Amino acid sequence: MRIDLITLFPEMCEAVLSESIIGRARNKGLVEICCHQLRDFAFDKHRRVDDSTYGGGMGMLMKAEPIALCFEAICQTLDTRPHFVYLSPKGTTLTQEKVRELSRLENIVLLCGHYEGVDQRVLDLYVDEEISVGDYVLTGGELPALVLTDSVCRMIPGVLSDQICFEEESHYSGLLEYPQYTKPAEWRGMEVPEVLLSGHHANIEKWRREQSLLETARKRPDLFKLAELSEKEKEFVQRNGIVQEDKSL
Ligand code: SAM
Repeated sequence: MRIDLITLFPEMCEAVLSESIIGRARNKGLVEICCHQLRDFAFDKHRRVDDSTYGGGMGMLMKAEPIALCFEAICQTLDTRPHFVYLSPKGTTLTQEKVRELSRLENIVLLCGHYEGVDQRVLDLYVDEEISVGDYVLTGGELPALVLTDSVCRMIPGVLSDQICFEEESHYSGLLEYPQYTKPAEWRGMEVPEVLLSGHHANIEKWRREQSLLETARKRPDLFKLAELSEKEKEFVQRNGIVQEDKSL
């Protein structure tokens, strides 16, 4: 997979994407990531990438032409047309399902906006979808692009040590992960649940599934409502005072 970021702050993106798990994945050749300086595609005297908005208003807007030129230059280096995503608070909210879908693509281009955003015409011409990282507004698209890149890259086979690493995690199966503990077995008077010290794998699996159900029911009732439960699991949550709402409601 190759991910290209179009940004006014490539060094900021590189700094994050060169570290830790994603940095190692890049070094191993599991994913190629290229950060492009948008200003390199602005050819006027002052290399301007922004201008005032038609219709008035205080803010500046990113101009269409440098973005189009940068995207076209990236396309010329690839065999296929990449999937072009604009990170935007107006986009659909990023979910694990969307991350999984994106991780199956060969090429993704991410556009990081700034100022008041981007001239609508370049979005209409080239952008395939707009993705948001949540219902709040940030100063720029770099952090959302880094969030998206990180979440997509960790789904690529070989990036994490084992597939089980992400399959058991929150959101992969629609539930939140169970609570976890590490050494020491007793810390400040609080003990690790007995079952986790038992070495009995079936019991540990059962406990984890049950805790996952309780964790989701308490913290994210919206997700819990959609979870597929066996009859035994329904009885278990009811014994814990939780009734699963009807999905259709
Ligand atoms: N005027 C825009 C609006 O009201 O929708 C907000 C522009 S914001 C200040 C500047 C840039 O930050 C956007 O172009 C976008 O790339 C990025 N951005 C801000 N919040 C975001 C979010 N929640 N998700 C994704 N990108 C975001």
